[in-house]
Amino acid sequence: MITECPYCQANVDAKVIAFHESYDHENDPGPFRANLLECPACKNTLLAGQYQYYDGERDFWEDPTRVWPQPKRFLSWHVPELVRTSIAEADRCIKAGAYIACAAMCGRALEGVCRHFKTKSQYLGGGLKELLEGEVIDKRLFQWSQELQKHRNLAAHATDGKFSRQDAEDLLEFVVAICDYVFVLNEKFNDFMQRKAREADGKKT
Ligand SMILES: [Zn+2]
Repeated sequence: MITECPYCQANVDAKVIAFHESYDHENDPGPFRANLLECPACKNTLLAGQYQYYDGERDFWEDPTRVWPQPKRFLSWHVPELVRTSIAEADRCIKAGAYIACAAMCGRALEGVCRHFKTKSQYLGGGLKELLEGEVIDKRLFQWSQELQKHRNLAAHATDGKFSRQDAEDLLEFVVAICDYVFVLNEKFNDFMQRKAREADGKKT
């Protein structure tokens, strides 16, 4: 099983020692498999998780994500696919030292957020403003997203703009925080409020 070994700092074909499958129908998008692995080079222990998805034709296991040690960024499955792929790509760019490409991918992730909410503007700036006006994001997140947009523009055009690893990591953190807020926390809050409303109804009857 191909996974990244943080000790060797390389992708390795790790040996699967054992795996366990479970499926929490309420919280999992599909069956989950936890894999206990051994790095073939340094012999250290690794743990990687993966979900099974159905693509309309067949079931398939997604690429494993390391959950221990030093877990890779584990994005909630509430984050839509078109946003997740850009974030995963941005993550890979950082690892490869491609910081300008990472900034461009962070911008692409934001475009994905706009597309998910079906904003009308053809431009990212306009789309972000619509998200603010529609109260999908608040003023602070709007400010962060504007900064991301500025750097996306610098990255997308042949300018002298320079990006350090720190810049790229920060931009990625911002876009992940925006996604957490918009897709994960919002969802949780709505569920919470619905639960409370149901409980209140239950008490009345
Ligand atoms: Zn290793």
